Amino acid sequence: MSTNAAVDRVFNFSAGPAALPVPVLEEAQRDLLSLPGCGASILEISHRSKQFIAILEDAEQRLRDLLAIPANYRVLFMQGGSRLQFSMAPMNLLRGSGKAAEFVLTGSWGNYAIKEAKREGETRVLWDGSGTNYDRLPKLSELDYGASAYCHLTSNETIQGVQFSDDPASGESVFVSDMSSDFLHRPIDVSRYGMIYACAQKNAGPAGVTVVILRDDLLERSNDSLPGYMNYNAHAKAKSLYNTPPTFGIYVVGLVAKWLQEEVGGLAAMHQRNLDKAQLLYGLLDESPDFYQGHAQVSDRSLMNVTFRLPSDELTEAFVSEAATHRLESLKGHRSVGGIRASIYNAMPVEGVEALRDFMVDFRDRHAN
Ligand SMILES: *Cc1c(COP(=O)(O)O)cnc(C)c1O
Repeated sequence: MSTNAAVDRVFNFSAGPAALPVPVLEEAQRDLLSLPGCGASILEISHRSKQFIAILEDAEQRLRDLLAIPANYRVLFMQGGSRLQFSMAPMNLLRGSGKAAEFVLTGSWGNYAIKEAKREGETRVLWDGSGTNYDRLPKLSELDYGASAYCHLTSNETIQGVQFSDDPASGESVFVSDMSSDFLHRPIDVSRYGMIYACAQKNAGPAGVTVVILRDDLLERSNDSLPGYMNYNAHAKAKSLYNTPPTFGIYVVGLVAKWLQEEVGGLAAMHQRNLDKAQLLYGLLDESPDFYQGHAQVSDRSLMNVTFRLPSDELTEAFVSEAATHRLESLKGHRSVGGIRASIYNAMPVEGVEALRDFMVDFRDRHAN
């Protein structure tokens, strides 16, 4: 291990691309010139080589094991980010269905998703949190689902910091969930969903690869007239090798999954760590409501993105720049919410959250009047 590199690392609270587990970076670095038994870099080998096929199959199997993905679901590794899924999901599942797609709008990303779905067919909004700047969530069991092609959810709204803590009940709808910013943060019941998608660069790997988990029977909806790359069937039939897939990204997703299995001890253990980390910050917000004002309602707080405001813009700016002198980086909130956003994904160690909490206590004590 290169000690200097580890010492130089800051605590990186970026919303994405975000921090990766150090053991993952170390393994990738160690094997970068030559994958064991391969004699060449992961960046240099054919996607059809037996070495890469083994990496692809291993990454898929690890995701299947971690999430207990049922056999009737396909796991696809794609490019284009979650933005492409905003288009592909309605192109494949809505177009020509004669039904509407339902949306639960809990923040910015859901709004981008519905905008693309509208190009493909009818949409219906079941719930819209814009009235309170997306600071809360509905109870999914209380929504008025109709006959629809599917119902789209955003499991964690990365910008506002609101997150569903449970899976939807089965049978209410075909749920399509954008899990881009909380994929692999807790165990989920995949069978409650028709489709799950997640770009990797928040919580599962580097930018460039997007994981799509799709129930078999939904593949029948993909129309042959779709452009080749846009058709889920093309990717499913080719086992993610329809075109050259993002080989390095898939390799790193596999390493992250291995880290979750072998070093963290699975998704239940990861969930507990995430609960504990988030509590360090939310506990402080609750203690200091006059100084740190949380954006999300208490019951809907995200374990991944902690959003809060300070009493003034001047204090917010001072907070961000002073934090950086303590090696606490990328804390500025998104402009639509303002204030601070601390993204504390799986790879953020508890020490990083403790360092941020200690800085927040000190900053409050020096500036609160
Ligand atoms: C980041 C993000 C996206 C967009 O991902 P891209 O890979 O940039 O297309 C979509 N949804 C959510 C919830 C996100 O956090």
